[in-house]
Amino acid sequence: MSKLKYLVWSGLRTMFRRGRRCPSCGSPDSAAVDRKWLVTSLRRCAGCRLLFRSPATSVGENERLYQERYSSGITTDLPGEDELRELLSGGFQGHPKDWRPYIEVLEFLGASPGERILDFGSSWGYGSWQLREAGYRVEAYEVSARRADFARERLRIPVHPKPDFLPGHYDIFFSAHVIEHVPSVAGLIETGLRALRPGGLFVAFTPNASSERFLNNNTSLHRLWGYVHPQLLDREFSEALPYTSLCAFSSPYDLDCLRAWNGRGRAIGRMDGPELLLVIRNVRTTEERGNGLKL
Ligand SMILES: [Zn+2]
Repeated sequence: MSKLKYLVWSGLRTMFRRGRRCPSCGSPDSAAVDRKWLVTSLRRCAGCRLLFRSPATSVGENERLYQERYSSGITTDLPGEDELRELLSGGFQGHPKDWRPYIEVLEFLGASPGERILDFGSSWGYGSWQLREAGYRVEAYEVSARRADFARERLRIPVHPKPDFLPGHYDIFFSAHVIEHVPSVAGLIETGLRALRPGGLFVAFTPNASSERFLNNNTSLHRLWGYVHPQLLDREFSEALPYTSLCAFSSPYDLDCLRAWNGRGRAIGRMDGPELLLVIRNVRTTEERGNGLKL
């Protein structure tokens, strides 16, 4: 969407007071924490404490954006023949999509090769491929049909055509820089927990919007949100999550802290780095979870 179209769309929605409900918990109550161009604001939900952009996009608008228009450089652009060959033979070493740091975090969370991982929002499969190389049994889900086809055909990744996963089937439900884009954060977490076996881990990496991050450097919250980042996670949201077994930290990750957490209780640590890691352990069986929320 061009900036002009986005402003007109935002202006109309603001005028008719649409898109003001929290996209995650549905609460009508929120307070503005930042504004851009008069017609859009970043709001803090009074219920679940999520930071979300208003006007919020509808589920249909969101789907169209990621199916057709969303572009984010190397994350979404499909590599050419030679580039792909080079990336695979070098194992993505030194590339911005080198997932060694994520794989190391999984290790310190107690994950081990052979476990089943669902890579949610896999784009063209670069991360799924690296997880499989590290020995995990990987399945994926990607909303863009073009990128999902590439992952299936060129990297032999089993990519689900829809986000309906076998309940209780996975050891890890993984996403990297996806949760800030989905129609509902709570919906994604519940979908993930439902797909996990008891004791399985929901693991999400996302931009960190905690106030500590912006105290002593040039990055600002103002630059972080907009049309393609409709919501942001931070310390306040993590603290308000209603799960008994979770941890949340920012990068650079203190691996000993992760190991020490070991799925016991709630641990929320330093939050001054650029990326936020949220881990929730599934403490319920599929039967206890019932039909739950779905995406
Ligand atoms: Zn909310």
